[in-house]
Amino acid sequence: PGTQLPYDPSKKTIVVLGSGWGATSFLRHIDNTDYNIVVVSPTNYFLFTPLLPSVAVGTLSPRSILQPTRYETRHKPRQIKVIEATATNVDPKNKTVTFSDLSPIRGQISETTIAYDYLVYAIGAEVQTFGIPGVQDKACFMKELKDAENMQSRFLDCLESAGFPGQSEEEIDRLLHMVVVGGGPTGIEVSAEIRDFLEEDLRSWYPELAQHIRISLVEAMPSVLPMFSKQLIEYTVSSFRKHKIDVLTGTMVKEVKDKSVVLQMPDKSIQEVPCGLVIWAGGNKQRDVTRDLMVKLKDDQKSPRGLQIDDFMELKGASGIYAIGDVTHTSYAPTAQVANQEGAYLARHFKTIAKRDALLAQRDAATSNEEREKIHARISKTKMRPFHYTHQGTLAYIGSDEAIADLPFMNNNYASAGTATYLFWRSAYISNLFTLRNRTLVAADWMRTMFFGRDVSRN
Ligand code: FAD
Ligand code: NAD
Repeated sequence: PGTQLPYDPSKKTIVVLGSGWGATSFLRHIDNTDYNIVVVSPTNYFLFTPLLPSVAVGTLSPRSILQPTRYETRHKPRQIKVIEATATNVDPKNKTVTFSDLSPIRGQISETTIAYDYLVYAIGAEVQTFGIPGVQDKACFMKELKDAENMQSRFLDCLESAGFPGQSEEEIDRLLHMVVVGGGPTGIEVSAEIRDFLEEDLRSWYPELAQHIRISLVEAMPSVLPMFSKQLIEYTVSSFRKHKIDVLTGTMVKEVKDKSVVLQMPDKSIQEVPCGLVIWAGGNKQRDVTRDLMVKLKDDQKSPRGLQIDDFMELKGASGIYAIGDVTHTSYAPTAQVANQEGAYLARHFKTIAKRDALLAQRDAATSNEEREKIHARISKTKMRPFHYTHQGTLAYIGSDEAIADLPFMNNNYASAGTATYLFWRSAYISNLFTLRNRTLVAADWMRTMFFGRDVSRN
């Protein structure tokens, strides 16, 4: 009730949950002449996550890496309904999804349940905190847009508080000690961006404070960036050390306190290290609604790491639900590259499903056995092609106008690092941005930063 959907009863309805990499790629490629499509997501935009750490230090403006979902859907042959809401329950048996408006302003109706024929489940993952005390409420994350804005504000707050008259040297050192937790690509890129901010802007904006700024990168495993080749890991660590970023491997964060972080060192001793800000990049975990869905399908869904799907992205144990991106546990890493290809594949797959469904309807309406058998033969010839992933390489920015890249080349890996790789990184990301509007905004922000520096006003 109260929700008018662009509904054509002769067509099947696809409900898409999410507006991130997987869902946006799906929406971009789907031919919706065959379907009613409804998109449900708490964010009414797509966020280009690879450039999020650049927003956290003001290199890019937040809006430059957002694209409203309606930009994508408005060019489609039939109207797509976009609903800003959070899915709270999926009922795979009755094929319904319940969602709620959890935003600050709500109308009289803020929760509803709708039926789907097909569900594209692409709600991504959330930040894994392992239940470590203080992480959820005291550390900054780097996952959503608000996280980057929050980090920028708190980082600048640390600087301004350190500049307050009469602050002791010890307190200035504490306030200006930034601890980044997690040596995956997110933690590496955040550390690199903070260091660039320091070298390129803060030294001139805050000359009396800049020499007190320290960055520590804490990683529990023996090495950072396990997905990169050995020489690129070594290159990154030596570049970080050269630029005075402390890399503490084999060191585990045990607690985040208001003014310090508790570390378990490689020799198992415990140290409490004073700091002004902790940025947590400890990896992904599944959202509650995904875990609930796994419980409902417990006979077929046995991996705690994510939803298990077949070669056609269909959820094991639930016909009609297709899962893509970080919600899944497959042999691929949870990356934008994978989610993007899965979304595009699924859109093509739905074209075939539409053909098959039309034939099934014809078969059911057939009046003679002969006709039914003919249609049946055509149905069995409908080829469903499985998903095939093409790896295009792994890239990361490591600061000081340098990047690292592992690129597949004629069945081998080509590892490259340095400034040329950074130029490649920039051009790859600019071309991966979905719209000309975003490309123009990001390029303009890079120019602005080059000519005028990063903005240090705090909001
Ligand atoms: P997401 O893109 O996270 O999208 C999930 C969507 O679901 C969002 O729109 C969200 O609002 C919505 N949603 C959430 N909860 C609900 C709900 N209950 N109901 C409905 N909708 C919901 N990967 C790379 O390949 N290269 C990179 O350079 C790279 N850089 C990254 C940098 C950062 C800082 C981060 C955090 C990640 C990076 N990644 C990168 C990983 C990449 O962002 C993810 O793998 C990718 O976003 C996964 O896509 P997805 O569609 O599964 O989820
Ligand atoms: P991740 O899972 O890759 O890394 C998290 C790291 O945090 C792990 O190495 C883990 O050992 C460490 N950690 C966890 N708890 C800890 C603790 N208590 N103390 C110290 N260390 C701790 O997470 P990510 O970097 O956010 O990446 C998530 C996904 O997104 C990955 O698949 C990654 O490939 C992808 N991604 C890719 C890029 C890129 O390609 N440039 C950038 C960002 C993210």
